[in-house]
Amino acid sequence: MINELNLILLGPPGAGKGTQAARLRDDLGLPYLATGDLLRQHRARATPLGVEAAAYMASGRLVPDELVIALLLAEIEERGERGFLLDGFPRTPGQAEALDAALREASRALSAVVLVDVPDGVLLERIVGRRQCAGGHVYHVSFDPPASAGVCDVDGMPLFQRDDDRAEVVRERLRVYHEATAPLVGYYEARGLLRRVDGLRPAGEVYASLREALALPEPAL
Ligand code: ADP
Ligand code: AMP
Repeated sequence: MINELNLILLGPPGAGKGTQAARLRDDLGLPYLATGDLLRQHRARATPLGVEAAAYMASGRLVPDELVIALLLAEIEERGERGFLLDGFPRTPGQAEALDAALREASRALSAVVLVDVPDGVLLERIVGRRQCAGGHVYHVSFDPPASAGVCDVDGMPLFQRDDDRAEVVRERLRVYHEATAPLVGYYEARGLLRRVDGLRPAGEVYASLREALALPEPAL
């Protein structure tokens, strides 16, 4: 289908994918499909998937491909029929191939894959300082603090730290990223889909270069 935007945000944990996705989703009205959020919802509801995924998530390992692929493809069918913004998927070559096959089957294709590039040295500090509310609004204790400590600016809900955002789990998540997910950079580069943005700068500047990388027109003021 022409004009359909099918985007992937790729990058290590803490790179700022969720932060950029929130802006992109608001601007473009794209359905936002984040496998981490979907898995946490399953875990909170104690569904069979959530129960099985919980131990993997708590230790920073990846949930097995077959479970995550089924979850994500169902979600695309339900909410992403006319475009989507993926965050946290694919995370392995097997997931990338399954997504390609499903899109091909539906005569669809990816529009672009944006790599939010941030060196490892910065990621630990970003993740350990991350706080969020139950509504999914994300802050950072130093880089993006709420007006009133521990309380969400948007909905007044208390902020909490994700249980896998503690330093020892973060180290494992970064190791897993380099081993399992980083090869996807080459996978999408070879297909001419990869766009790199420097995620080290302040979030607003990252967003401006992301829009530029996607050749999106300047937002109206
Ligand atoms: P990801 O979704 O890639 O795991 P997040 O968007 O949740 O990453 O960002 C991780 C943490 O870093 C959050 O606390 C967020 O507020 C903060 N953050 C995001 N982008 C930036 C940035 N450009 N500079 C500094 N901190 C950032
Ligand atoms: P995230 O919210 O993207 O940081 O993901 C949190 C956790 O959910 C990860 O550390 C994994 O355990 C699990 N997870 C999320 N997305 C995937 C995926 N595509 N494949 C496997 N596990 C995933």
